[in-house]
Amino acid sequence: MLPLGGLGEVGRNMTAVSFGDGYVVVDMGVRLDAVQAFEDANLAEMGLEELVKANAIPDDRPLRKKEVKAILLTHGHLDHIGAVGKLARPYRAPLYGTPFTLELVKRLVLGEEKLELVPVRPGERIEVGDLEVEFLHANHSIPQTVLPLLREGEHSLLFATDFKLDESPLLGPPTNLQELKREVGEEPEAALVGTVRVDEPGPTGSEAKAREMLQEIMGKAEERGRAMLVTTFSSHLARIRSIVEISEGLGRIPALVGRSMKNYFSAAVELNLPHLPHDLPVHGSPGSIKKFLKKADGSRGDYVLICTGHQGEPTSVLSKIADRKLPFRLRDGDQVIFSASVIPNPINQNNRSILETKLMVQGARIHRDVHVSGHAARTDTAEFLRALSPRHLLPCHGTPEKLEAMMELGRELGYGEDRLHLLENGRPVRLSG
Ligand SMILES: [Zn+2]
Repeated sequence: MLPLGGLGEVGRNMTAVSFGDGYVVVDMGVRLDAVQAFEDANLAEMGLEELVKANAIPDDRPLRKKEVKAILLTHGHLDHIGAVGKLARPYRAPLYGTPFTLELVKRLVLGEEKLELVPVRPGERIEVGDLEVEFLHANHSIPQTVLPLLREGEHSLLFATDFKLDESPLLGPPTNLQELKREVGEEPEAALVGTVRVDEPGPTGSEAKAREMLQEIMGKAEERGRAMLVTTFSSHLARIRSIVEISEGLGRIPALVGRSMKNYFSAAVELNLPHLPHDLPVHGSPGSIKKFLKKADGSRGDYVLICTGHQGEPTSVLSKIADRKLPFRLRDGDQVIFSASVIPNPINQNNRSILETKLMVQGARIHRDVHVSGHAARTDTAEFLRALSPRHLLPCHGTPEKLEAMMELGRELGYGEDRLHLLENGRPVRLSG
């Protein structure tokens, strides 16, 4: 196995696995803090070497001359698919992913690039040479997430980078540990397990809890004639649906505002996903955003503006409103709800704090962290590991501290040092026994 990104950092996930006479690659993501902008970042304009040098995309040089037979994508978050447009082409390998993931690849990262995209359903099996790949369903903060299980003869390797255990995910089925156990068998040889939230005690709250929190905060914030703005992840369709329904319950018209809000929503509509009302007002282009905000400015009490900007991204709709670059002026008593937590890196923390200051100076009332994470925390990860009992545990997708927290959890669960593996980007590992 050759890990190429996502180790010692959160983002730019990419791992190559050798089998028979070739490789398969799992994920090709970007590291968003290195790109310095989130949802409205235009990666297409940046060159390959520039992005590698900035640690924004995986450094795939050790793999470049190797034969890659397939690229498997776990889900549509940019830290898993964002580098596809930059890295995939030279390998001339088909890309496998669920329909929503591939639709996002087409819309967000490929541009004019044409690659062979092969849709797979959760639960589906494919064969790549002698390797069998099964795409197991898992719940996460974006629809149609899968955990690829790779099998070659006696050997099996599970990729569980992003998942949560949630009894009430509100969208799609929960992660089913019994079913996963059945699929992976008695003792899978190894599992790569994501560590994004493993340094928090947990358990991670259910998405139903996030909805309750929103219901309460939006209910309290409701005041006739005042604006209500809610910002969250454009890819989090379960959350957006909750906001839409609560808005309607309050007698307000929900509207999506921002380029990436439109991108993700259109992808869902294109696939006819039953997530959101298809007639929801959506404003993605600069012209449409301006025209709509001008109207909403005059009747602010009629709407809930669901907009981009939860990390304080300077080019987002919320930041532009705060900077008075859009025809919507905040007034005393307008409400701004952040249905997201700040992703803890200096750039986001700084951007978000600047944004909040500007919003408050203009009289807005701010509600923070109306959110639950899409990642398993320590207790849920322990439950996952106990259920599946992989022989080797390979922490992935995390900073050095997070990887170490997973190692610690592994020791607690009885893993000896010979079964715990601290991987590094660019350093090949061989698992045996
Ligand atoms: Zn994710």
